[in-house]
Amino acid sequence: MKRGYRPLSTLVLLLSLLFLLVMAFNSGSGYAVAPPMLRVGISLSANHLVLTLESGDTLSSRASGSLVPLPPGSYRLENSGNGIRINDAAGNNCGVFGGPLQLVPAQGAFSIGNARYGSTYYGLLEVSTRGADALTAINIIDMETYLQGVIPREMPAAWGSYGGMEALKAQAVAARSYALYYLGAGRHKDDPYELCDGQHCQVYGGKDGRTANTDRAVAETRGRILAWNGQVIAPFYHSTNGGYTECSANVWTNPLPYLRSEPDPFDDPSNPENIRHHAALWEKDVPLEILTSLLTGSRSAVFVEKVDVIQPVFASGRVNELRISGGGQTVSFFKEQARTALGLRSQLYSVLQQPEPRVWIASAIDGITVKNSYTELEGKWAAGAHGIKCMLTGEQFTVLAADRRDTVPYMAYIFKGRGWGHGIGMSQYGAYNRARAGHTYGEILSFYYPGTQLLSAY
Ligand SMILES: [Zn+2]
Repeated sequence: MKRGYRPLSTLVLLLSLLFLLVMAFNSGSGYAVAPPMLRVGISLSANHLVLTLESGDTLSSRASGSLVPLPPGSYRLENSGNGIRINDAAGNNCGVFGGPLQLVPAQGAFSIGNARYGSTYYGLLEVSTRGADALTAINIIDMETYLQGVIPREMPAAWGSYGGMEALKAQAVAARSYALYYLGAGRHKDDPYELCDGQHCQVYGGKDGRTANTDRAVAETRGRILAWNGQVIAPFYHSTNGGYTECSANVWTNPLPYLRSEPDPFDDPSNPENIRHHAALWEKDVPLEILTSLLTGSRSAVFVEKVDVIQPVFASGRVNELRISGGGQTVSFFKEQARTALGLRSQLYSVLQQPEPRVWIASAIDGITVKNSYTELEGKWAAGAHGIKCMLTGEQFTVLAADRRDTVPYMAYIFKGRGWGHGIGMSQYGAYNRARAGHTYGEILSFYYPGTQLLSAY
């Protein structure tokens, strides 16, 4: 007998068993064998829709079942009150049509001039009237193509070129699970679409953001989802956890069995091996007048005397209770309440005992200065024109002035912290560092969602 030879009957038996296993897997998960079709609401930056028709595109009124015969070109659609009015680029009225209208693009994709997150989309477009004067645009698309437009908006696609392909795959599984979970939960049950394209669901930018890395991450995890007891989960994720994951009960209220709190050496900002988020270690000053208004409900003369992190904190170091007191009054913020009220990056922080004087000076000469990821500005207060103060947040700050300098003196309590986000579930930077260290996406997901199963939904 040759080495490795097995009788044919054994082979057939093995193949049959494999087939049965695959069938059981698919039917057990309760989903179809093809990716589900999704109805995704596209955010418009105005109440009308700017649409480009290409040669061969088919636009029809689903109300009457008739075609809307229009030559290629740019059109403006709006709600006329008794249908959808279409004007051409020159402003000529091409008619009013009963909605919803459906566009089937000849080339497989269509363009919208005023969508908030994208300009070109695969699949079909449906346009219907909303209320008295607005329109709703819906992209009808299969789950896998939808994910190609989501992953590049949720995680840096370039990571895939620097050892992070497995992190992109973990993100793809998380995003697919999220979308399926939301479908089942009826997140938009009062809307004519199932998912929106903003952060409320997941940011979806259509065809524009697609990259080879993110397409590959979607393709190589096709149909894969995370489940607990056979049910798809909502796999919470965040940017960076500061070196310690968190369980949901310590941030919100409900404990979930697949979330736990434990050290994450792959997202520890003090580990020099790790690629670190630029804001993994942060500092924020919160002016006394803000703390006073939280204590008293007004910016009266009552001064805050103490800002305390109450012991014990959670095992991760995240704060359970932050107490502000002064003038005989006390107010406490629990779990993530302080993070929300004070605009802190995470719940993992300490507070310096005494307030310190702070001053910020901003200047620009002859025009605009733009700084990206200028972390020392984050959370600082700036004086703008007409003496209006604002807190600087986000990843890009623009200073607009003409050779002038503004100063803002104030007293503030200093918060020092680690991580960005709630710390629950997958840390994206932690996933990236794990991928760089050779972990597979399955290993990454089983660390962040312990006890879950990776299933094939189709
Ligand atoms: Zn939504």
